Amino acid sequence: MHNNSYLELDPKSYKTNIDFLRKHFHKGVLISSVVKGNAYGHSIKQFVKIALEERVSHFSVFDSNEARRVKAVVEDKATVMIMGWLSNDEDLDWIIQNDIEFFVFEKSRLTAALALAKKIRKKAIVHIEVETGMNRTGFNSTELKWVQDFLKKNSEFIYFKGLCTHFAGAESIANYFRIKKQIDRYDEIYKQFCDKGLTPKLRHAACSAAAMMYPETQMDMVRIGIMQYGFWPSPEVLVNFYNAKRKNENPLKRVISWKSEVMSVKKVKRGEFVGYGTSFMADENMKIACVPVGYAHGYGRSLSNVGRVLINGERCVVIGSINMNMMVIDVTLLENVKRKDEVVLIGDQADKQLSVSSFSDYSNLLNYELLTRLSPDIPRIIKV
Ligand SMILES: *Cc1c(COP(=O)(O)O)cnc(C)c1O
Repeated sequence: MHNNSYLELDPKSYKTNIDFLRKHFHKGVLISSVVKGNAYGHSIKQFVKIALEERVSHFSVFDSNEARRVKAVVEDKATVMIMGWLSNDEDLDWIIQNDIEFFVFEKSRLTAALALAKKIRKKAIVHIEVETGMNRTGFNSTELKWVQDFLKKNSEFIYFKGLCTHFAGAESIANYFRIKKQIDRYDEIYKQFCDKGLTPKLRHAACSAAAMMYPETQMDMVRIGIMQYGFWPSPEVLVNFYNAKRKNENPLKRVISWKSEVMSVKKVKRGEFVGYGTSFMADENMKIACVPVGYAHGYGRSLSNVGRVLINGERCVVIGSINMNMMVIDVTLLENVKRKDEVVLIGDQADKQLSVSSFSDYSNLLNYELLTRLSPDIPRIIKV
């Protein structure tokens, strides 16, 4: 574990977000909390605990390793669903034994699940993912008859719990027609399943952006990642929300803060270069502070010369390149800055704020990418 910085998670902010989402979505829509990517960098272990406190009862992950980590926290208090990778050889046994639900988009996964379910005499709980236009995973239309026959024939061992799909970029209006076509295609396929006497318990398709931009995609369950952490999928989705509400008030609150401290302070003379190479030259006599955080911890190199941090209640600029374990900050204007002063990389200090999106604007990194790059070795602390 590093002790040069820490991430603080605020359960009150989480409550604000989940309360908003529950109120905003149609009545009865189940929220699945998406915690892939180490809970978008928040840490599965800590974040899932916070979500459970707010009675979240469904979690979605990418792979079986994440499923194991979530299961260790939730035990029997919530459902866990794998949306992507699992190994038919090493994982399926554990998955079926523990009632872990999983996406199926391949015949081989379905036949492997059947064989194991028969062997251990326990039903496999599956969500059939269908191709609607993203062209990533999902059964193609030519395979659907095979899937339907299989599900009908093997209902004793395979529980057809969900019919699902995923949209190809609902956060951008540029994809409007593509998404609309996907919605229509999903509805057709759903009807086709029902006509065969195969009605899934849950229809689900929406991520955060789809659930907000295309309310009809909320169906029975929504798979919500980014918004529960307090971020909007894109500025467009936020502006669209403002327009609909006719006011500019962001109902979401950032759950995560990232804090470190000043490691050293010193002076640099006019005309000197700061750090590696020549990317920054002091054009006046300056005071600089070193902060022990760098790209090894998840503070991207693309923030060289552009990143901002808060020190002594003021917004200060990163100068020179971000190093592996360090960055240099211009603190010329801070009179009293000294070693051990708090440095906020994401979060609030006095009346100022630094959001993840404000620094991803500088670096063209999406919120998603920046969050998931936060090193798992940075301690996560739950704010009390
Ligand atoms: C990541 C993911 C989501 C959640 O997306 P957000 O934009 O973070 O809400 C939903 N469904 C699938 C299949 C995903 O991979």
